[in-house]
Amino acid sequence: MKRILTGDRPTYDSFHLGNYIGSLKNRVKLQDEYETHVFIADLHALTTHFDKTAELEKNIKGLMLGYLSVGLDPKKVFFFLQSKVPEITELAYYLSVLTSRPLIARQPALKEKLDAREQDTVGLFYYPILMAADILAPRANLVPVGKDQKSHVEFARDIALKFNNLYGEVFPIPEPLIGEVPTLPGTDGQAKMGKSLGNAIFLTDSPGEVEKKVMSMYTDPKRIHSTDPGTVEGNPVFTYLDAFSVQSDKGKVQSLKEEYTKGQVGDIEVKKYLAQVLNNFLDPIRQRRDKLEKEPGLVERILKEGTEKVRIEAQKTLAEVKKAMKLDYF
Ligand code: ATP
Ligand code: MG
Repeated sequence: MKRILTGDRPTYDSFHLGNYIGSLKNRVKLQDEYETHVFIADLHALTTHFDKTAELEKNIKGLMLGYLSVGLDPKKVFFFLQSKVPEITELAYYLSVLTSRPLIARQPALKEKLDAREQDTVGLFYYPILMAADILAPRANLVPVGKDQKSHVEFARDIALKFNNLYGEVFPIPEPLIGEVPTLPGTDGQAKMGKSLGNAIFLTDSPGEVEKKVMSMYTDPKRIHSTDPGTVEGNPVFTYLDAFSVQSDKGKVQSLKEEYTKGQVGDIEVKKYLAQVLNNFLDPIRQRRDKLEKEPGLVERILKEGTEKVRIEAQKTLAEVKKAMKLDYF
């Protein structure tokens, strides 16, 4: 069975609708087809959140509850905590000596962040190498990522090829599995909903909070009166409706779109309907989370068990790495 690897940075204690539609939903599907490894990237979180370490533990638990509440199954998935598999950081060091420094400096996904000066740390510069080690330590075959992260997986491929050529075949060459899901916009109309952008609807928001956020959502800025013809295309309210409505809502969504275009329905009515659709989607997720939250020690146990299993794999990889590099002296 092919092995996939994905992860999330614990920069907040909950996932948002964008994380769900862009990543979690697909993982729930993939867990039946692949041996799935999901890790919480606390070391990667440090690169931008080194001054918020006091929040990490809460965030890690929150993300674990998030995984379980959307339907990732600990019987199928290996959940692990990056910092508890020190073989990953050790492997990253061996990979770093094979890595061309100018090549990293040109990584597009990294360059933007490095250019923001206060973040220009050695740790952030090292990010692609650590990510290559995340992938190669459990010897993952496939890495589901958005288009923006593709270059990181390509970097991991290149370094694995270089290692294998130099020292012998240790690593399978990982492939990116590119999701074609478009990025979900923020409630403020920004192109991306983000955990740290203040424009997210979280899977843990209460029905009242969801309604409040939806009612203040950005729609068609050119539309002043509810009798003005409105634009559906690129209007976040309709983007969300398309993403989260179920089959039985589709007829209603279609007629709202037609009425909106003709100026026959007000923003308030459409938003009220959206809040209802989102709350219907979120209700079972919230209920599962409430239940899981009441089981003391549950997420810690799942994370501990998964981490132990993955660590054994990573130890095997590292032993092979050292043997191949002739570092297994004494
Ligand atoms: P942060 O603001 O801390 O960077 P984030 O919201 O961007 O957080 P990440 O942990 O960086 O979330 O990403 C987790 C996963 O969710 C990734 O696979 C990413 O591609 C996906 N994702 C994040 N935001 C969106 C979005 N708005 N639409 C679709 N997918 C998204
Ligand atoms: Mg992000």
